Amino acid sequence: MSMVWPCPLTAGAYASMGRAVKVPRPECPSCSSPVVFWSGYWRHVRWQERERKIFIPRVRCRGCGVSHALLPAFVLARRLDAAESVGLVIGQVAAGACGVRRAAAAVGVPHTTARGWVRRFTVRAGELAVSFSALAVELGGEAACLLLDPLRSAVVAIGAAFTAAAGLPGWAALGRWRFACAVTGGSLLAANASSPFLVIGRRRFMPPRSR
Ligand SMILES: [Zn+2]
Repeated sequence: MSMVWPCPLTAGAYASMGRAVKVPRPECPSCSSPVVFWSGYWRHVRWQERERKIFIPRVRCRGCGVSHALLPAFVLARRLDAAESVGLVIGQVAAGACGVRRAAAAVGVPHTTARGWVRRFTVRAGELAVSFSALAVELGGEAACLLLDPLRSAVVAIGAAFTAAAGLPGWAALGRWRFACAVTGGSLLAANASSPFLVIGRRRFMPPRSR
């Protein structure tokens, strides 16, 4: 399982710190027990056409024994490219600013990779639009005005939730795509992720619904 923490570092700064990155110790998302740091693993992240090796610490819950990888908010689970690259492409395409090919070239990723992101995101766009709009309201913001185009609606709703969250400590500096990555537990592009939720302090917004 993965948890995402609101990391404000650039990918380069994070990578250069190796294993020394200071990661806040979370509570177990399943049972709220304390966790202990428990090894970790190396993976790659690509940002601005550069691939870097980064260390992902793991924690293990003392209560239920489940271990979680603590992903910095600029990476998505099982995706090489940074969350911002994915977000830039999806945002541009959703806004009708350009096609996938140009958006892909602008962030330096293969066209086919970017096309895969847009397809995957579009499949879940309706659900994401509703969830992020509800999250915006829970955070005291305004409901996003949902549009006929689900892709656009999802991007607008993520923006509305981010605007509402930006008033909370630590989130404003992250930008909307790291925020969206954190809310979805790194699974913004996953086929069958649980519904988005967000843990701030001890409050859990929108707990995942079982289906
Ligand atoms: Zn636990």
